[in-house]
Amino acid sequence: MQAKAHWGYSAEALEGWRAELAVSPQGIRARPTFVAMVGIEVAGFYSLSPLGRSWELDHLWVLPRSMHLGVGRALLSHALETAARGGAAEVTVDADPNAEPFYLECGAVRRGAVPAPLPGQPLRARPQLTFNAKPVSNSVSRGGCQCGSIRYEFSGSALELYVCHCKECQKQSASAFGISVIVPRGAFRVTRGTATFWSRPTDTGHMLECAFCANCGSRLWHQRRGAVDTISVKGGSLDETVDLRRAVHIWTSRILPGITVPEGAAQFPGEPE
Ligand SMILES: [Zn+2]
Ligand SMILES: [Zn+2]
Repeated sequence: MQAKAHWGYSAEALEGWRAELAVSPQGIRARPTFVAMVGIEVAGFYSLSPLGRSWELDHLWVLPRSMHLGVGRALLSHALETAARGGAAEVTVDADPNAEPFYLECGAVRRGAVPAPLPGQPLRARPQLTFNAKPVSNSVSRGGCQCGSIRYEFSGSALELYVCHCKECQKQSASAFGISVIVPRGAFRVTRGTATFWSRPTDTGHMLECAFCANCGSRLWHQRRGAVDTISVKGGSLDETVDLRRAVHIWTSRILPGITVPEGAAQFPGEPE
């Protein structure tokens, strides 16, 4: 409801949608439903209706405070993989018109529209969109330090991608900014060598454990002490080219003169809320 209200619909219109938008415990048990977390807070969720070869994405919502962090994209990509794994060839969306640009940008094809007029908006229509369900991704990303003593890999795609312009990241990378490729901790493993750790306290009062190669000094990944959910792989250590076009730029208040954030990229002067 909060996410839909973000588009400025009237209270009456929102109330009329309450039953349709509410997700019941029965619904969650009956169909694939996943939530996205940012830190320890729920940021959004989606649910799918399995219908043979063509599954429907019933819900995909991101809370306003977590918008523009790549959460919607991560949920959508997870939904398409889930559907493909379940045997779907395509995933359809009966979308809110405000969400259409996001879906089209993510590769949806518009098949038509259903009239859905509201008071004052007689021509409003809900776009009917279709995605190809992704073939199940067995992709593995690999990386390592500069001398090759330590190698690691992780399966699947990154959950989030950050370019951080803070002073700590400039120090740790000995360069202009840090690149954080956030991956589930369970998907990551070291395949050669043993990392050495250096730790520092963060502004939020946690201990950050920073893995590096004792032989060549490359920084490899960061993990929060005690956190089991995700780790932050340092992007430059990956073998593959990291595509920074979808990266979220943080601590842009500390950006080095001469470095510019690409137009249209999500950016925050400090740490996102
Ligand atoms: Zn090394
Ligand atoms: Zn930083």
